[in-house]
Amino acid sequence: MIMEQQLEKISQEAVRILSDLVSFRSVSGSDNEDIITYIADYLISYGLSPKRISAGRSHSNNLFVTIGESRDGGVLLSGHTDIVPASGAGWDSDPFVLSPRQVCGEEMLYGRGACDMKGFLAAILALVPRWIEKRLGCNKEPIHLAFTYDEEIGCIGVDDLIAELGSCLPRPDAVLVGEPTLLRPADGHKSASRYITTVKGVSTHSSRPASGVNAIYGANHLIAELQRFAGEIQSRSSRDPEARRFDPPYSTISLGTIHGGTAINVVAEQCELGWEARALPWEDPQQYLRHIEDFSRHLSETLPDGKKLVFTHRLDSFLPGLSPKASKAYGYYQAMMVAGNKIPQPTTTVAFGTEAGKYDQAGIPALIWGPGSIDRAHGKNEYIEKQQLVDCCALLSKL
Ligand SMILES: [Zn+2]
Repeated sequence: MIMEQQLEKISQEAVRILSDLVSFRSVSGSDNEDIITYIADYLISYGLSPKRISAGRSHSNNLFVTIGESRDGGVLLSGHTDIVPASGAGWDSDPFVLSPRQVCGEEMLYGRGACDMKGFLAAILALVPRWIEKRLGCNKEPIHLAFTYDEEIGCIGVDDLIAELGSCLPRPDAVLVGEPTLLRPADGHKSASRYITTVKGVSTHSSRPASGVNAIYGANHLIAELQRFAGEIQSRSSRDPEARRFDPPYSTISLGTIHGGTAINVVAEQCELGWEARALPWEDPQQYLRHIEDFSRHLSETLPDGKKLVFTHRLDSFLPGLSPKASKAYGYYQAMMVAGNKIPQPTTTVAFGTEAGKYDQAGIPALIWGPGSIDRAHGKNEYIEKQQLVDCCALLSKL
């Protein structure tokens, strides 16, 4: 049984660690050596042996550590060390100094990353001594911790870590990814595929447009098709009763950017479209690209007077979806709730992509479960409710 005073001590430690973590400007894409060294030193001070994992593609590292016997099985608690940028403009306090404030009688902790997701990292670090103690002299299954990099720019860093699970690193039975869900278990999200489509025509003087091929006009046909196709997909994908668990309850297509032409008096040689498809996790994410490829091929072949447009489509980034299913990961959540005398909640889904989809794709069941609300993430005056941290520590202490 965890005593009230013990929990109070662990929560205070979590706030202290969170304050240190927030002070690191670990913005995605920048070197994360400082924050990784801080976490590694903390783990080493408890006699653990954290490993830096990187494929050398970046200056940043993931960190992995096992508490208990170093073997396959057990649960992996995973969180990212990177944050989205914060300039300080529009903030009521320095985003890199954890600032507690009372709002309507509740204590909120302000700082960039406090919610997404250094709060979760602080909670798991504060519980390290307790988890070590619980595993002394018994063969309780191990707990693994992962601290990843560059999650906010496409979940890039975790790939290096997943590649080592089951070879250089133990392979866990399940993963809890601590993204902010207000401690509700989430077992699904859509996949996200981003594409850059380039349309190439023939440039000429605008006084004789018929002698060229206008790439913007070509792109215009494609834009209309993207919009029409989005409607078709919406009505098709929303027929699945399972779709109702997602918000919005259908797959989506959206055009985000358009760049084309060089001057008003020049027929545009090139136009570039940036678009994305967010597919319900059981849908084939490549079907949208195939449709757009077929459409553009047909368009080019049917231009009058033998004129040609050249379309190329490049995958800019892909994040796999997380498919809802009864999994071992939910089992760990359920066990924590039961041990904490709480009724486990049914799973929900989230609207944002996470590393959980990547673990799931690698065959390791994953659940998203963490303190704080995603509504507080990424914006100015990001905060986490202190009570969320306390509740998170209380439940994690049951592992
Ligand atoms: Zn996050």
